Formats: sequence, C-alpha cells, structure tokens
Amino acid sequence: FAASGGGLVAYADARTDPAAEPSQTAPKKKMVVLGTGWAGTTFVRNVDSSLYDVQVISPRNYFAFTPLLPSVTCGTVEPRSIVEPIRKIIRKKGGEIKFWEAECFKIDPDNKKVHCRTNIGTNLEGNGEFLVDYDYLVIAVGARVNTFNTSGVVQHCHFLKEVEDAQKIRKSVIDSFERAILPDLDEEERKRTLHFVIVGGGPTGVEFAAELHDFISEDLAKLYPTVCNLVKISVIEHGGHILTMFDKRIGKFAEEKFRRDGIELRTGYRVVKVSDNIITMEDKLHVETSVSYGMAVWSAGVGARPIILDFMKQIGQGNRRALATDEWLRVRECDGVYAIGDCATMSQRKVMEDILEIFKFADKDNSGTLTVKEINDALEDICIRYPQVELYLKSNQMSNIVDLIKASKGDVGKESVELDIEEFKNALADVDSEVKNLPATAQVAAQQGNYLASCFNRMKRCEKKPEGPLRIRELGRHRFRPFRYKHLGQFAPLGGEQTAAQLPGDWISIGHSSQWLWYSVYASKQVSWRTRALVISDWTRRFIHGRDSSC
Ligand code: FAD
Ligand code: MG
Ligand code: MG
Ligand code: MG
Ligand code: MG
Repeated sequence: FAASGGGLVAYADARTDPAAEPSQTAPKKKMVVLGTGWAGTTFVRNVDSSLYDVQVISPRNYFAFTPLLPSVTCGTVEPRSIVEPIRKIIRKKGGEIKFWEAECFKIDPDNKKVHCRTNIGTNLEGNGEFLVDYDYLVIAVGARVNTFNTSGVVQHCHFLKEVEDAQKIRKSVIDSFERAILPDLDEEERKRTLHFVIVGGGPTGVEFAAELHDFISEDLAKLYPTVCNLVKISVIEHGGHILTMFDKRIGKFAEEKFRRDGIELRTGYRVVKVSDNIITMEDKLHVETSVSYGMAVWSAGVGARPIILDFMKQIGQGNRRALATDEWLRVRECDGVYAIGDCATMSQRKVMEDILEIFKFADKDNSGTLTVKEINDALEDICIRYPQVELYLKSNQMSNIVDLIKASKGDVGKESVELDIEEFKNALADVDSEVKNLPATAQVAAQQGNYLASCFNRMKRCEKKPEGPLRIRELGRHRFRPFRYKHLGQFAPLGGEQTAAQLPGDWISIGHSSQWLWYSVYASKQVSWRTRALVISDWTRRFIHGRDSSC
C-alpha cells in the first residue's frame, strides 16, 4: 500500500473532481530538459513526472558534484565518488522519464523543436542527428570555459570544468614529478617542469592551488625528496586581490596563508599568451613579463556555450553574455522556453520602470495619494515582486516604509502623511541599486531547478483554480511567486585542513572548525547514499594512507 500511495491519491482526486477526468486521458504535454548538471538534475529530481512527458537530453549520462572536482585533481577524492548516473536518478521516478545521451546543437523556438546529435556511434540517419518536439523546453546546459581568445590557452592549458579535466590534471601533476626526476636533466629544466601555474584567483583556482600544495607537501615530497625543493606554485590574477567574491577578510587571510605556504601570487597581471613552456602576461601598464612553466591550469572565467549564443541571436538577445529570463525563469519573448543555471541570467524588473503601476496598485481608494497605511498594506506584495525593496530597507537599517519616507521627505507624523506620485518616486528612487546579478554557482542552479519544478508541479492545480493562493497575482499578473535566491553561504577551502566560510549575515569563520563544517555540508549535499559513502571513505582513506601517486 505504501508504494502505491501516490497512485491512490491521484485516483481519488480524479473521482471526486470530474473536471480532472478529461485531462487524465488527454496526452501529456511534452517537456524537454537539456543538461544533467546542477540545474537540470535538480529540476528532473523534483518535477512531477506523472504530469508531463519528460525527456532529458545531455551528452553526459551522469551528474557530477562539481564542488569536489578540485579534490579529484589530486586524488583526495576518486572521480567515481562524485558522479551519479542520471539513469539511476530517473529510475527513482518510476520509469516515466526518458533520457537520450546526445547534444542539442540547435533550438528552433518557432517550430518548438530541438535538433540533437549523438556521438556514440549509431546507425541513425544523418550522422546520428534527430529532432525532438517540445511543449515546454527547460534549458540547463551550463556554461563553458572562457579563454577570452587568449592565444595558446586551448592548446597548452588544462581546464577544470569536467570530471575528465580533473583526471587529466592529476595525471599531469604526477607526470611532472616523474619527468623532473629523470637523470641527465639540468637544474633549470627540473625547475621549469615543476612550476605549476594557475590562471585565475577565483574560488576554483584558489582551491586547486591549495589542494595542489597539500598534495605536494604531504605526499609527493616524501616520494620525490630530491626534487621537492624545486617546486613552485604560482597564481596569476587579473584583479588586485584573489577571492574577490568573498568578504575582504577571507581574501586577506587566503593571501597571507598562500604567502606562508610559498605559493606565489601575481595579482594585477593578465595573461596574454601561452606557448608550450612560456606564459606571457602584462601588468596594468601593459608591461610584459614572461615565465617558464611546466603545467598550467586555466580557470579564469566562464562564457556562453555556442548553442546559447546561437539561440540568443535567433531571439534578438545577440548582444548579451547569457540568456536573459524574467523572474519566473522564462526566456523573454519565447513561449514555453525556460532557462536555469549558468546558461542564464535572471533580470530583475526595476521598481522605477513600474512605478506608476505600483502606485496604482497601492492606491486602493483611487485618491491619487498614498497613505502610510496604504503603502504598508501593499508592501508585502511589492517586496515579493521587487525583492530589492526589502534588501534596500535592510541594508539601510530601516525597519519599515515610514523610515524610508522620513528619509526622503524629512520628519513626518506617522499616520498623517500622504504621498503623491512624485514623492513616492523620490522615496523609492534608490532601491533599484540593490539589484544584482546572481552568481554562477551550483547553489543558484539547484535552487532554480527546484523552483521551476515546483511551478510546473502546481501548474495544473492553478489552471483549475486561477485565483491561486497568492495575492501578488494582481501586481505581476502571474500565479506564482517569482524566483528568489536564498544565499546559504559559501566555502573557500585553503589547504592544510583550513577553510574559510562566509555564512548568511556575513558571518565569517576561518580555520580548522570550518573545515569540519565543510566536510559535513559536502557530505550531506551528496545526491545519493552511495556517493556519500564513497566520498566519506575517500576522505578517511586520505587521512590514514595519504593520497595515491600512481597514474
Ligand atoms: P552544469 O552543471 O555545467 O551542467 C550543464 C549540463 O548540460 C551538463 O550535464 C552538460 O553535459 C550539459 N550540456 C552541455 N551542453 C549541452 C548541449 N548542447 N545539449 C544538452 N546538454 C548539454 N558552485 C558552488 O555553488 N559551490 C562550489 O563549491 C563550486 N565549486 C565548483 C568547482 C569547480 C571546479 C567548478 C567547475 C564549478 C564549481 N561550482 C561551484 C559552480 C557550479 O558547478 C556551477 O555553477 C553549476 O554546475 C551550474 O549548473 P548548471 O546546471 O547550470 O551547469
Ligand atoms: Mg544542468
Ligand atoms: Mg554540474
Ligand atoms: Mg545563472
Ligand atoms: Mg489613496
């Protein structure tokens, strides 16, 4: 009975609600999901697949837990431990979801089709290409590495984006040591071979540098004692500091720790050219410097994938860096198309664009002025539709709207004040400064996948009862609350069992205790008990036996 519980409920619904019956027999709407990364997988795990005919398309038949990729580069965690087959994930949904291992290379929004190509040898006609129709399309293809067209990067640098990248890096690090220790090499050549360069001082680059430093000092130094004093790790960063997306204290702590560890920081340098053994960079004054290197990892930014660039051109977003959606994650001007995760940016509507509409919405008695009570009554709805209002009040330490009016109008009596449209505009003039782009993180991608799935799951119910549970409908004319990102904090592992954590409310914690927090959060975030067990046993193995250096 327990196993068929969901079915029973659905059946009971159909009997008691005659309106539901025709829709039970009508064909389900076709939903196509592109991508099996953070956004796509979270969406698929949460969408109610009994309501839609779901097809998932991705060139990768597994989900990868990217936050542990830097640990894979040095064998702290095994690649198998951070991936979960997508078929296992969708099997849990009762076999209703289909998966095709293929890449989508063109989206045709006019005919509601996607063009796909599989690269696993098939006898499909036309080079393994096929077409898939959709009613709803969820684009979650993520981003690609951005080389900024720097010459030589693709040929000579490693990237750190996919599981294979991490495996290649691991092999390359160990090969560097085996090469450097060979007989008949001169000292200069050994030094060059053991110069590891990381381009980009963001979270990924910094975590990799820290991980590499630990690997070398804790494990490789014992195995290659004659060359370990020739090792050098350098981080090249274009900006003035590393980890600029974190609180300044974290960046400062990381820089000091890296200096103590002997990791060279070259901030304020931009790499302009990479050859097989020389990296050329220039400083702010365009003065060039060159260094010889043995191995380089490029983690200096993300850009849009070709399929997204092409799609943006088709729908008139050609001059953008990522696909723009509204706050319901719908691609603008594109019926039935949604985009989530790194391939998309959500543009938050500005208060100033809608100020007249907001004013009319709040002015319930149509008097042409707003009383404090009228504003207060509308405030909750306004904050849902325009979260920047709430952020603005918070960041200016205003407890309510009266403070805001006071600030713009001078001291006023609490209930007596009335605002006309111009005064209302003045009061809200600066709130849009709180609108920020969401970062390209797993956290954002997963929350968007989750949110969109819950919208789809409620769609049927809302169609039947259009009033919905939400008053905001009147203002935004939508049945669902807009997506709202909830920042749960961020970690920056810095090596030596030390991690910096920035938690909500700008609570900062740096050191060994946050390393334990990191272990427990990352263990708990695993998508399955299998990967969780594997990751924890990898960590334990590393504590006891160190990392493996064979490849
Ligand atoms: P992805 O996870 O990249 O998934 C994209 C999916 O689309 C993949 O399955 C891909 O195979 C598929 N795909 C690609 N092209 C096509 C196509 N043409 N057709 C169909 N499918 C396609 N974020 C954090 O919040 N915390 C961290 O600690 C963290 N650490 C990171 C460490 C590293 C090394 C990296 C690389 C990233 C890290 N991130 C972290 C960022 C995080 O991984 C991304 O923000 C997140 O993966 C974005 O999710 P996504 O679903 O948009 O894209
Ligand atoms: Mg995805
Ligand atoms: Mg991913
Ligand atoms: Mg995004
Ligand atoms: Mg009024």
